[in-house]
Amino acid sequence: MNLHDFARLMPKVELHIHLEGAIRPTTLLALARRNGRALPVEDEAGLAEFYRFRDFPHFEEIYGTIIGCLSTPADYELIAYEFGRGCAEQNIRYAEVTFTIASHIRRNSLPWQTILAGLNAGRAAARSDFGADWGWIFDIDRNRPETQEQVLGIALAAREHGVVALGLAGDEGRYPASVVAETFRRAKEAGLPRVPHAGELAGPERIWEAIRLLTPARLEHGVRSIEDPTLIAYLQERQLPLDVCPTSNIRLGVYPSYADHPLRRLWDAGLLLTVNSDDPPMFGADLVHEYEVLVDHFGFTADELEQVSLNGIRASLLPAPVKARMETEFRAEFVTLRQSLT
Ligand SMILES: [Zn+2]
Repeated sequence: MNLHDFARLMPKVELHIHLEGAIRPTTLLALARRNGRALPVEDEAGLAEFYRFRDFPHFEEIYGTIIGCLSTPADYELIAYEFGRGCAEQNIRYAEVTFTIASHIRRNSLPWQTILAGLNAGRAAARSDFGADWGWIFDIDRNRPETQEQVLGIALAAREHGVVALGLAGDEGRYPASVVAETFRRAKEAGLPRVPHAGELAGPERIWEAIRLLTPARLEHGVRSIEDPTLIAYLQERQLPLDVCPTSNIRLGVYPSYADHPLRRLWDAGLLLTVNSDDPPMFGADLVHEYEVLVDHFGFTADELEQVSLNGIRASLLPAPVKARMETEFRAEFVTLRQSLT
């Protein structure tokens, strides 16, 4: 067994992935047909072309188009169930999955309870059929700050139904963290963890701002912290996790190539990193692919791959006893896997 086999078979955790961006292209095409919703393309090849990143507004348009293909609770059940199947195929044992609930409510005129019931029906079926499990991160779209109150209210009310955190995505260049600071303060007061995107489309000053104003449990991306040594020292000391998505960063033009990507430097600086896929079919990169990228482009060893996986458990929002149990399971599996390494 080589390191690619090891990457494929090893137990994993994924903490930075958007459910809308994880829908399989064939499923999206079928949903559009079934619901009589227009897609600008007709087949998988067309979809791949449509997904090719041009600029951030186009990226947001893609998201809007995807959301417009969904219509009924059964559609939400289907995409959640298929997500679970994808986890099982890659041996992802636990995930925290971002979902932009307010966009679905607005576009599809369904109450949030109906959407979440569909999602959770798919989650329960996937858990029983594949053993995959995950929590939801309901995120605020920065470009629609008027929805922040609504998203917080739903996230708090849905904590009994699998919501584990409040997220924040969208164009961080145009919408600073201050726009949502009060809402995040209230989430903190209510004990709901915060997991904002920061340091992807904008530099370290936006990361500092997110740390100060949003008191995050983790940062999604955060890679541009490499530009500020004081920030690196801060992240290292606090072990504030960064959920890094290397291929996503390349596709969105944050870095021109893997050789320019700071992942290895962030790792060597002692930061707590997890590795993730963000929007797998859009970027042609699922989590197994990202682990292979660690091997091929960042020189990661089996020891380091194992550490990335264990970091996922550590950085997750699972209760401490569940983390401990999962880590014991993972470590035992790694011992067996290593014996087959050549
Ligand atoms: Zn993301």
